[in-house]
Amino acid sequence: MPFATIVGHQRLLALLARAIARDTLPPSLLLAGASGIGKRRTAVAVAEALNCLAPRKTGAFETDACGECASCRRIARGVHADVVVIEPGETGTIKIEPVRDVIDRANYRPFEGRRRVVIVDEADALVDAAQNALLKTLEEPPQASVFILVSSMPDALLATVRSRCRPLRFGELTATDVAATLMRDHDYEEADARAAAAEAGGSIGRALAAGGVDLTEARGAAQRLLNQAARVSDPARRLETVRGLTGKATGAAERDLMATYLRALASLLRDVGLLANQADPGTLANPDLQDDLRRLSAAFDSERSMRAFGAVDRALAALDRNVNPKVVANWLVLQL
Ligand SMILES: [Zn+2]
Repeated sequence: MPFATIVGHQRLLALLARAIARDTLPPSLLLAGASGIGKRRTAVAVAEALNCLAPRKTGAFETDACGECASCRRIARGVHADVVVIEPGETGTIKIEPVRDVIDRANYRPFEGRRRVVIVDEADALVDAAQNALLKTLEEPPQASVFILVSSMPDALLATVRSRCRPLRFGELTATDVAATLMRDHDYEEADARAAAAEAGGSIGRALAAGGVDLTEARGAAQRLLNQAARVSDPARRLETVRGLTGKATGAAERDLMATYLRALASLLRDVGLLANQADPGTLANPDLQDDLRRLSAAFDSERSMRAFGAVDRALAALDRNVNPKVVANWLVLQL
């Protein structure tokens, strides 16, 4: 997975590529940012670029892995002798033994590649003893070794570990980036990809985790609900609009379905509020619905959309407390 195949984070990837090309890559890196946005993928791309047998310049990247040579393929399959990935085991933590093991190995020259790369995924799961064991190695990594810590909760790492690594902060992906990745790597149809991306808050991982529920349908229902709320003020008629919203679902399934509708509603209301405030359309989570959302923003000015957004938030909290989904829907539809 060369840099060129990673969606988003282009400036940061270009920096890494330049550092690799000029041999100025810091030996200890901390890739930090929300989960599911490509941090581990980037760490593997660094390992490939450092060890590729036929590296090349691609687009904005001064150097990049070919993704096809024996070295790139072995790294991608996780079987390259010099590229080690440590991650939490079943206990959810990373114990000291695997860390000791890589520290020992890091003292030898690379076996088949040019650089040994140790990737610690979810590094915040390292037990304190393991973090302490790493300190000296992070401070003065053996020649030819690179340590890449990956974390969505970098503040959970010991300060002494953080201070020894060069931090690289990953921003959220745009909804368009998430949708593009879902279509390219996960066989999503465009409409489904856009709907999933709109709710995922810039995380591919979250978009995939939400799979199973028909997000396109949820977003469509939320859109209809908002359009009706914009036109209809009579309470009885408003209540009609949410009748049967969750179909035959009951129990936890009904709650999950209602939560999906509510998150879709929140995502649309956020966009309507942005448009009411003349925000840049590039920041929308649902850019494909821009025309309809713009029409909605005439009825939902910035104050009303914010109030409605707050109501959806309270409705989600009520669902979490096990309040009956139908009661929640009835309450909410009168607040919009
Ligand atoms: Zn290669």
